[in-house]
Amino acid sequence: MKHFPVYLSVEGQRIVLSGGGEAAVAKLRLLLKTEATIEVFAVKADAEIHAWASDHKLTLIARPLQVGDVDGAALFYAADEDEIEDARTSSLARDAGVLANIVDNLQDSQFITPAIVDRDPVTVAIGTEGAAPVLARAIKADLEERLSPNLGMLARIGKSFRKAAEALPWGRARRNFWSDYYFKAGPRIETKGEAAAQQALDELLFAHLYAGKDAGHVAFVGAGPGDPELLTLKARKALHSADVVIYDRLVAPEILELARREAQLIDAGKTPYGQQTPQETINELIVTHARKGAHVVRLKSGDPTVFGRLDEEIEACDANAVPWHVIPGITAASAAVASIGQSLTKRGRNSGVRILTGHDVAGFADHEWRDLAKPGQVAAIYMGKKAARFIQGRLIMHGADPATPVSVIENASRPNQRVVTSTIATLPTDLANADLSGPALTFVGLTPRSAVAVLPYTKKQELA
Ligand code: SAH
Repeated sequence: MKHFPVYLSVEGQRIVLSGGGEAAVAKLRLLLKTEATIEVFAVKADAEIHAWASDHKLTLIARPLQVGDVDGAALFYAADEDEIEDARTSSLARDAGVLANIVDNLQDSQFITPAIVDRDPVTVAIGTEGAAPVLARAIKADLEERLSPNLGMLARIGKSFRKAAEALPWGRARRNFWSDYYFKAGPRIETKGEAAAQQALDELLFAHLYAGKDAGHVAFVGAGPGDPELLTLKARKALHSADVVIYDRLVAPEILELARREAQLIDAGKTPYGQQTPQETINELIVTHARKGAHVVRLKSGDPTVFGRLDEEIEACDANAVPWHVIPGITAASAAVASIGQSLTKRGRNSGVRILTGHDVAGFADHEWRDLAKPGQVAAIYMGKKAARFIQGRLIMHGADPATPVSVIENASRPNQRVVTSTIATLPTDLANADLSGPALTFVGLTPRSAVAVLPYTKKQELA
């Protein structure tokens, strides 16, 4: 290790920088996050630096750095992007006994600035001693994605709660409490603000003190249309921390892989006899696990609020005083319309879109066919494969043009995605010929924009 990472106290200290161009701006952006007093020496400074100066975020001195200017500073940055000037200013700093960094010059710098992931007061510093800046950036990007933007707030509130948490015995009990706060309760309430976080801490402490463990919880999570990259970050986090995952038939196996290895995975799509699990059984399963204290992820394909029987499960939770929250997902219609390069709504064509099911509890679902039969209307029909002939009949009966385009997208967003281009007149025949076996979404009123757009997802990526 040629460079030793430390966290330097700069609160109330001076940091001096020489330079007014791009390199200076980049460094200043970072330095302005600190509680140091920043002084910039530049004959000519970028507009952004002038703006910071007029906002009193830093002091701009419009002349070259001179002897005496760096005296007593905590750090010095030479950022003139000029070899001779940088050598001159950094030697002034060194003569004054101040640590100097020359931007983009590892060799002559006494210290270097790491890549930083900032969730103040939590900061992660990444350094490669100049060996692989690309690697540092990749690690930073990875961490930025993994650490919630609200982590800093959680940590600040956590810090102010340390005294209260001493009510728990030191050691394992206290560690479990903090672990539950940061990885379970915290992520659930982090977007709800400080008051909610404070309240969650109070409740959590109460639970740990008197119940011995955290109460259970249910997250209704949208798994998206199949492509694991279309999962939200929140969905991924919920999967990472779940004790029990109860998933539907359409949830892709690659997504289940994201659950913890110790998590219990329960297929709610079918019973051992291949029958569909009755809704009451699923409700019971969810509630039973949550009441035992488990963090349950109820994983549904697409978005949980679209044909997901979400309300029945929420009501079961409410009836048993089990807390829950919903994490949205990308619904099949969004993925399907993306694959044909069209919009769900379009100015001058349709100012609204219908989300329909081909099937409901009573069999084929009836809708306002007269409105839908008008030119330019768009409907996204879920579970519509078997209902093709029924839908065709109703639309034509209500005056639709038989030449109205219809697109059926099977396995949207998955490697085996297929698009069937059809019309109302030929829909049942075209579907019979295509012999689709996967989940499929039917768009009435839309046709693929171009040949490229209908290529399967993986092929499209290769082309790009
Ligand atoms: N909650 C889900 C819908 C569940 S209903 C969502 O928001 O997407 C199940 C129906 O969704 C299927 O019959 C099919 O019509 C549609 N569907 C789900 N995944 C799909 C996919 N990858 N491609 C096309 N249609 C899909």
